[in-house]
Amino acid sequence: MSLKDIKHWVFDMDGTLTVAVHDFAAIRVALGIPAEDDILTHLAALPVDVATAKHAWLLEHERELALDSVAATGAVALVRELAGRGYRLGILTRNARELAHITLQAIGLADCFAVQDVLGRDDAPPKPDPGGLLKLAEAWGVAPAAMVMVGDYRFDLDCGRAAGARTVLVNLPDNPWPELADWHAEDCAALHRML
Ligand SMILES: [Mg+2]
Repeated sequence: MSLKDIKHWVFDMDGTLTVAVHDFAAIRVALGIPAEDDILTHLAALPVDVATAKHAWLLEHERELALDSVAATGAVALVRELAGRGYRLGILTRNARELAHITLQAIGLADCFAVQDVLGRDDAPPKPDPGGLLKLAEAWGVAPAAMVMVGDYRFDLDCGRAAGARTVLVNLPDNPWPELADWHAEDCAALHRML
């Protein structure tokens, strides 16, 4: 299947549609999470009261980042082009759903995504788990193989692969994961030119 034929697109948000601003090292320090641990996995293993407090801190920290979001190069034009073609568009993010909506509003793309097609960490197991993609596939009534997952990190590509979807890596000058990415574009403007 050629990229031009794909009508069901799922995007990662942070670092894909926005300029990456999360300082994950600083977040780990602030929350007392070992440098080598995945943040969401670490929090999920903590006692409920501790996890609740740390999730609340994380949500406030990320809310401030969301309000100041800046669109990544070419992201707005790309998404508007796809939406204009009548394609189904979704978001699958490890961020919180309400912050995904704030972010889309801040970069001027909120009208391109149906509210129920924006999935955050409250809606699906975090990537690289394919659960969120499979949920969108079911909601849209399409085979995962007819979908593409677009992201800037290997979790996005692993998620796409595990779901049986196609994958696009964006916003990296080179492709460190050629076995996981069906296509690579250095930014969303380059991806737009591939359509
Ligand atoms: Mg990302």
